[in-house]
Amino acid sequence: MTQVTDRPMLPADPDSSPYWEAIDRGELRVQRCTTCATWRWPARAMCNHCFGFDHDWPAVSGKGTVASWVRTHRAFLPQFADDLPYVTVTVRLAEQPDLLLVGQLADSHAEPEPEPEIGMPVRAVFRGVSEGRGLVFWEPEA
Ligand SMILES: [Zn+2]
Repeated sequence: MTQVTDRPMLPADPDSSPYWEAIDRGELRVQRCTTCATWRWPARAMCNHCFGFDHDWPAVSGKGTVASWVRTHRAFLPQFADDLPYVTVTVRLAEQPDLLLVGQLADSHAEPEPEPEIGMPVRAVFRGVSEGRGLVFWEPEA
């Protein structure tokens, strides 16, 4: 398996940098409007529910269910070649029905290949945190 730290990372931006800083500490935090308490992801300057600008970054449970998934058999970047085939999941977080995060299913290249199901409970796990370049993966809830 390719080291997480070998993967290209998104450039930091002012809206999402608290998310990445939390991941590097092994925490999953999501932006939330402090006016109406609506969670919002991707992070953005203005709440799409009340149009407020104030927000905070509380920790979330890290639990959710698979909303969709796809198995990738070809590497679009060479850093992912050793992980093939891998599964990317869209996870509906427990905090709010329309709060969706995308990530890789942990160890999804294992044999036999895991068969995710829509609605399958998953939880966040962190890889690469000790190297200072953390990423969230999702693993089936036992
Ligand atoms: Zn709001």
